[in-house]
Amino acid sequence: MTTDSDFFVRFWGVRGSVTCPGSATSRYGGNTACIEIRCGEKLFVFDAGTGLRDLGQMIARDGVKDVDLFLSHTHIDHIAGFPFFCYAYKLGNTLRVWSGHLEEGLTTEGVLRQFMSPPLFPVPIDIFEADVSYHDFNAGDTMKPSDGVTIRTAPLNHPQNATGYRVDYNGKSICYITDTEQREDGPDRNILGLIDGADIVIYDSMFSDAEYPDYKGWGHSTWEEGLRLADAANVSTSVIFHHMPERTDDQMDNIALAADKTRPGTVVAREGMTLTP
Ligand SMILES: [Zn+2]
Ligand SMILES: [Zn+2]
Repeated sequence: MTTDSDFFVRFWGVRGSVTCPGSATSRYGGNTACIEIRCGEKLFVFDAGTGLRDLGQMIARDGVKDVDLFLSHTHIDHIAGFPFFCYAYKLGNTLRVWSGHLEEGLTTEGVLRQFMSPPLFPVPIDIFEADVSYHDFNAGDTMKPSDGVTIRTAPLNHPQNATGYRVDYNGKSICYITDTEQREDGPDRNILGLIDGADIVIYDSMFSDAEYPDYKGWGHSTWEEGLRLADAANVSTSVIFHHMPERTDDQMDNIALAADKTRPGTVVAREGMTLTP
């Protein structure tokens, strides 16, 4: 049970691109992007990667009845869990799905409807028994989804676009910045503005600086860039996220050590982890 003052983020999927189950990835987890941010009784979900399936089972047990799901974008690793979100199949539940990255002519509902349609998926989106509504905004908009909660957004640098989020509650803030590629001409100003002075910033850390030259144009950033942005914006805690699926737990441990040396207190996201600002 949460109280009004509770504010935390819990990680349900921390990988990028594709799931990677197996013994070499079991400690950090193999599910794709999905996090939960609680603001008191309110539950906000960011991204519908495969981690969403486990989250759905947890909130079914908890009897949650109202959820907002914000998508960073609609690449498959960020929506693959959507058809398996048991919460959406239950009459009496309310779900609002939001995205702010789509180009003119596309809608959140239209894209998810296309995703859940034969021959890609056997049953259409109308199978959901919950009261599901779909909402479009423009990255850059500010939203007040609930009393005392402000969600600011900014456009990210990613093929077909993506949206970065900042959640402010009770004088604290958690930012969710994935998927995004660093800029050639210095730190990304959209991101710096969004994360300024934030308590926790979760950042697309798919590559390392050493690997990045081979992956230019792929739409992802490096863990070192995440730490540079955190320094420049006076962020308290930086969180390494959207791990490359090939990375083993031992490799992730090495990144954690190197990151902590560069910026003490840096956290590497793993499934099941909870962070409180
Ligand atoms: Zn991704
Ligand atoms: Zn993407």
